[in-house]
Amino acid sequence: MSAKQNILGITRDGLADFFTQHRGSAFHAKEVMEAVYRNDVRDFSKVESITERYRAILNEHFSIELPQIVKVQGSEDTTRKYLFQLSDGRYIESVLIPATPLEDGTRSNRMTVCVSSQVGCAYGCKFCASGLDGLTRNLTTAEIISQLVAIREHSGKVITNVVFMGMGEPLANFKNLNPALDIITGHWGLHLAPRSVTVSTSGLVPMIRKLAERENQVSLAISLHGATDEVRDKIMPVNSKWQVAELFDALHYFASKNKQRITLEYILIKGINDELEQAEILAEKAKKLGGFVNLIPYNTVEGLEWERPSDEHCKLFRDTVKNLGVMTTMRLEKGHDIDAACGQLRLKEMKKTAEAAKA
Ligand code: SAH
Ligand code: SF4
Repeated sequence: MSAKQNILGITRDGLADFFTQHRGSAFHAKEVMEAVYRNDVRDFSKVESITERYRAILNEHFSIELPQIVKVQGSEDTTRKYLFQLSDGRYIESVLIPATPLEDGTRSNRMTVCVSSQVGCAYGCKFCASGLDGLTRNLTTAEIISQLVAIREHSGKVITNVVFMGMGEPLANFKNLNPALDIITGHWGLHLAPRSVTVSTSGLVPMIRKLAERENQVSLAISLHGATDEVRDKIMPVNSKWQVAELFDALHYFASKNKQRITLEYILIKGINDELEQAEILAEKAKKLGGFVNLIPYNTVEGLEWERPSDEHCKLFRDTVKNLGVMTTMRLEKGHDIDAACGQLRLKEMKKTAEAAKA
């Protein structure tokens, strides 16, 4: 690994401090950020708006590193899943998701990227591929940003939305997430509207409160998956630490600080959390919060026993929530398997590597 710092992990203010220490100024930081994020410069010698002296200093201390693309699944205009290899050989994945076409065949130009925040995950939710092997490590800020830069470069698409719904628990890596959010939303960086950036969490209460304090406020999604402690305790170990009531206190606090609607994510798993009583309690909680419910019929994961309920039952669950006056979405169409459940491509790749090592 090079001793140089990957420039994709630094904010404009951080870079301005660096230049100031090297007898430069905020001007140099601005020019470099523009070259990297606006003009896709990948070689500092091409940053022509700063003098040779500063280009040399930049070169001495920084690199521009993108992860290696190992595999791309899916095709143009569909959801595309990227498997990346990091400089220490670990795998992560990200997904590029275009807006679904409207009934008249047109589609909005929304282009969402789902990014990973950690290698693995410590939270061990029972239905999730990402948590199967526990946490390996946090991603650095640069590794978070470089997923977006690499996908933008490979696909040629303009990214309009980012969701932290890939591998890992982003709020357990707040230290590296926070500057990444600055780079994603900074007008000098990737320049996305803060409300188009969504952090998803399984419910790390103190960190939800911390995220609420951010100046540049992003959207929040909660992986709820159970409307009561009884159900949540069965599938999400995090609930033994922060129970549903405490979680909703934090969500109400977030809502009081932030005008974006909070999304309650709810995977429907057959016989586990799909009783209609859960739908009623979920609707009641969502309503009080002014939240929005996103229902996700479970995607089967190799090695896990869970199943999705029938389409009819999923619709019944959805209608129960909806009829109680809550905005609700659910996608049922086929071919969704690639969309969710990040962590599965990596799992396959790791199995392949392990098998090759055995052979
Ligand atoms: N750790 C954070 C961010 C990851 S988000 C969180 O849990 O919110 C990943 C999303 O995919 C979560 O909502 C998770 O519950 C969901 N998910 C995990 N496994 C899934 C599966 N097999 N089918 C559908 N959704 C799944
Ligand atoms: Fe981790 Fe989120 Fe998967 Fe739970 S759902 S194991 S918190 S990535």
